Amino acid sequence: MLFMNSDPKDAPAAEATIHPLLPLRDIVVFPGMISQLFVGRERSIAALEEAMAGSKEILLAAQRNAKTNDPVAEDIHSVGTIGDVRQLIRLPDGTVKVLVEGKRRAALGEFVQASPCFLVETRPLSEVVATGVTAEALMRSVQSTFDTYVKLNKKVAPEVLTTAQAIDDPSRLADTILAHLPTVKLSDRQSMLEELDPSVRLERLMELMQAEVEILQVEKKIRTRVKRQMERTQKEYYLNEQMQAIQKELGGERDEFKNEIQELADQIKNKRLSKEAEGKIKKELKKLKQMHPTSAEATVVRNYIDWILELPWFDKSEERYDLEEAERILDEDHYGLRKIKERILEHLAVQALTKELRGPVLCFVGPPGVGKTSLAKSIARATGRKFVRIALGGVRDEAEIRGHRRTYIGAMPGKLIQSLKKAGSNNPVFLLDEIDKMSSDFRGDPASALLEVLDREQNHSFNDHYLDLDYDLSDVMFITTANSLGGIPLPLQDRMEIIELGGYTEFEKLNIANDYLVPKNRKECGLDDVPLTVSESAIRTIIHHYTRESGVRSLDRELASVCRKVARQVVEVGKERPIEVGAKQIPKLLGVPKFRMSRKEERDEVGLVKGLAVTSAGGDILEAEATVVPGKGKVIITGRLEKGMEESGQAAMSYVRSRLALLRLAEDHCQNVDVHVHFPDFVKKDGPSAGVTMATAIVSALMRVPVSRDVAMTGEITLRGRVLPIGGLKEKLLAAHRAGLGTVLIPKENRKDLRDVPRRVLKLLRIVLVDHVDDVLREALVLEDPAALLGPPRTRIEYRDGEPHVIEGAERASEDARRPGAPAPSVAHQPGA
Ligand code: ADP
Repeated sequence: MLFMNSDPKDAPAAEATIHPLLPLRDIVVFPGMISQLFVGRERSIAALEEAMAGSKEILLAAQRNAKTNDPVAEDIHSVGTIGDVRQLIRLPDGTVKVLVEGKRRAALGEFVQASPCFLVETRPLSEVVATGVTAEALMRSVQSTFDTYVKLNKKVAPEVLTTAQAIDDPSRLADTILAHLPTVKLSDRQSMLEELDPSVRLERLMELMQAEVEILQVEKKIRTRVKRQMERTQKEYYLNEQMQAIQKELGGERDEFKNEIQELADQIKNKRLSKEAEGKIKKELKKLKQMHPTSAEATVVRNYIDWILELPWFDKSEERYDLEEAERILDEDHYGLRKIKERILEHLAVQALTKELRGPVLCFVGPPGVGKTSLAKSIARATGRKFVRIALGGVRDEAEIRGHRRTYIGAMPGKLIQSLKKAGSNNPVFLLDEIDKMSSDFRGDPASALLEVLDREQNHSFNDHYLDLDYDLSDVMFITTANSLGGIPLPLQDRMEIIELGGYTEFEKLNIANDYLVPKNRKECGLDDVPLTVSESAIRTIIHHYTRESGVRSLDRELASVCRKVARQVVEVGKERPIEVGAKQIPKLLGVPKFRMSRKEERDEVGLVKGLAVTSAGGDILEAEATVVPGKGKVIITGRLEKGMEESGQAAMSYVRSRLALLRLAEDHCQNVDVHVHFPDFVKKDGPSAGVTMATAIVSALMRVPVSRDVAMTGEITLRGRVLPIGGLKEKLLAAHRAGLGTVLIPKENRKDLRDVPRRVLKLLRIVLVDHVDDVLREALVLEDPAALLGPPRTRIEYRDGEPHVIEGAERASEDARRPGAPAPSVAHQPGA
């Protein structure tokens, strides 16, 4: 017997058996492995038949060379596997499909027969038994490596893994795994079959698998890289396509951009610009050409160019210098205002003669609603200029006037340049409204920008921060308005010709309403051809009970409201019937009255005095209340006070204290009391002129003598009781008139201002000129015998029915002569004094 394998030879000799041999070309069958074989060679088929006839056992041994067709004993490996034939199917082409299951290793011995099939002596090979920790460890690592391998190699079915994990025999494990490693070379398989020590086989398997895993890992890496590359290529392809599309679009945009630039260039050619502007705009256009059309910078440059192109550098509206026509227009738009219209016409006359704007800028000062804005509009109409207006109220930043530099995001030119663009001509009437309401803070002083604007020497080269170009404002006719002179910075006042517009009297309001406001509102409400009349009494009712103002703005608003209500009636009922709006209808149309007409009290009160004040809304009654409280002889003044009023009150109190004897009050009368003077509804006013009011209130309160409810007063006082002149006399008298008061006490020195007061108002008031507090007290306090307290009345001037009357009385007595108990001064009558 010939056993060629060395190890098997060492194996303990076992009984040799004869088995038919099935030589295998390209497969090594291991014990435990079921294989399907296709058998074509005659000798092999014969071997199968031999097996089937007997025990069904067959020897499966690999050829040394797969290509050998007719192997002899030497061509067969000396170790094979004994297997069972499980199934055998004869195929139509004469070949046989057979299912064999490997059973055990066997060493090949003598070839006892060669035909019709090989019969070979075989001897079973017993394996080395591998147990213990090393075997266990080996098994585990083989299993885990196999696990990795299976996960990497998609060709191995995952169930195999489960099978492998369930095997606890090292030899079986090695064989099963090896059977499922498709990439192991035939020669390797054969040598593994021949290895009888499972540990060695497992180690070898590990090596094989690790090499395999490495290869698989690299493969995987390569695969993912390739995949990624594929993806990238795909992405690049996609992006490229997109880019092409974008570029195609961009190409269109570029063309558009080129057109746009050409258009701008044409516009620049056709527009008359200042030399500087032209140079600058061309430079900017050049810059724009180099920019990306959709970039942010391009937008900024484009905006800038647009601004320059849209500004009226040399565009003018034709100016008219027809004074007669101007007068007609001013009259057509405004009732009364004789003097003001004359001033305006004079101003226009100078321009007509010089054909240029000369002289200071006009500044209309007056309460709201007296026609400042509408006068400016009329001037524009009369001179053929456009009209623009900016409101300066609340402007506190110089940049609002002058613009922001272009480096700011979202920078724009200032209000001035913006308005000129809106006007579309460089010679409009430009109204700077509420110039007294500007303020300044850390962002700069808007007034300083206006100084430059209003200065004819400088404004031909006004520099807006945004444009950064000189713009010629010298043809612009600036007109400014303010509510009060006080708020206008002095340097600005210097450049302006102040024209003061006072409030209107009731009569004037009535006429303005009748002749201007009612027709205007009728037209605006589409009531032109509706037979509507608004009666005089209705207008009076509105003036008295629905408005409290110097101007006619609220009156205008209320009349507009009346017209709207009438319009609604007309739509609902029809316009055939004449509509008459009388005083009775007014509450129905306008709701409950907002004001009481007269603020006269029911009776004369102690400590309640009516002063007069000028607020930004015109003249108003300024009531003072005084009361005596326990204290130390001080005066307390409350209410929303203005600077100077406190001092004024102190002066009044000091004067009263110095005159205690005269007023027949005990010397210590003041020592244990304070006098509290309060101004209940005080609104901001100009300057201190409440001295006499406070003095009267204090005296009335201390002496407990009532003050006449029919008397209003104004005047500042000195410590010695002299009455000093005040401002805003006209407004104050109008306010007294509006409040229905009969007597007004005014400082003697203000007599000259009475010229400005409408005669109608003068005629309805009794005006007493006073130069001393005593005279005020004499008029205001309701005393049974004023002479007993204040001495005999003195010569004074009173206006009644609008005419001055000299009321004869005592000459001014010396202070001594007026002490109580002193002989009454002789009364000298001096007619015509
Ligand atoms: P202001 O600018 O002084 O606040 P407005 O010019 O806006 O006042 O005048 C308010 C309204 O009163 C305007 O409708 C204006 O036409 C009208 N108005 C003011 N004064 C007169 C007047 N004297 N004659 C006719 N309408 C006048």
